[in-house]
Amino acid sequence: MNYLEFRIFKDYPEIAAGITYRGDDFMHIDFHSETFLDSKAKLAAELGVLERDVYFVNQVHEKEIRMIESASQNDILSYDGLMTNCPEKLLVTCYADCVPLLFYDPEKNVVASVHSGWKGTIKKIGAEAVKKMQQEYGCHPSDILVGIGPSIGPCCFEVGEDVYKEFEQKIPVGAFQDKGKLFVDLWNANIEILLAAGVKRENIECKGICTCCHHDKYYSYRSGDKEAGRFAAFIMVK
Ligand SMILES: [Zn+2]
Repeated sequence: MNYLEFRIFKDYPEIAAGITYRGDDFMHIDFHSETFLDSKAKLAAELGVLERDVYFVNQVHEKEIRMIESASQNDILSYDGLMTNCPEKLLVTCYADCVPLLFYDPEKNVVASVHSGWKGTIKKIGAEAVKKMQQEYGCHPSDILVGIGPSIGPCCFEVGEDVYKEFEQKIPVGAFQDKGKLFVDLWNANIEILLAAGVKRENIECKGICTCCHHDKYYSYRSGDKEAGRFAAFIMVK
């Protein structure tokens, strides 16, 4: 299985992190489909973990993040992120245009995989993850590394007035206009949220890859992958 890696995590062989490509389909709406189970088995084999140690959430565009501490938590509940400091727990979130955020604190050995769509971005789930890493594990925001994976880019995310106004009011750096059309920049918005939470700019790597422009490589809701097709963002302490 091929996957996209982050430069920012390269110096840390004690973790595995990446983004899968189109072809490996983690359509999480049906967790029992053959396609999903095949992709899950492939990912587990690639990373050398048992399938029971691969964790998913039922992403609901809120900002709750689940802490994984034991194998008995392998049920799929309604959360938008997973966090742990336990080894060999593979944390996976699924995507077709929303923003994948992968967190690692090398000091406390804490990882998180967090789903930040436009609703999650408005709710500042990225800051929620940083806060939870501080509260639950004693992390310092200045130690935290964040990889921002491929998602719909500012080039393709034209929005209606309602969404535009929400960004304009809550995260102004995420809203802009071009030739009379309204757009949202989820990359800038998430970077801004992370900076405000205390993450250093040099500790953030934003891939800057638009899923809609590159739907040959990634799944993209806007370019047609509505009822099927999701790629995965994963992270694990080995
Ligand atoms: Zn684009």
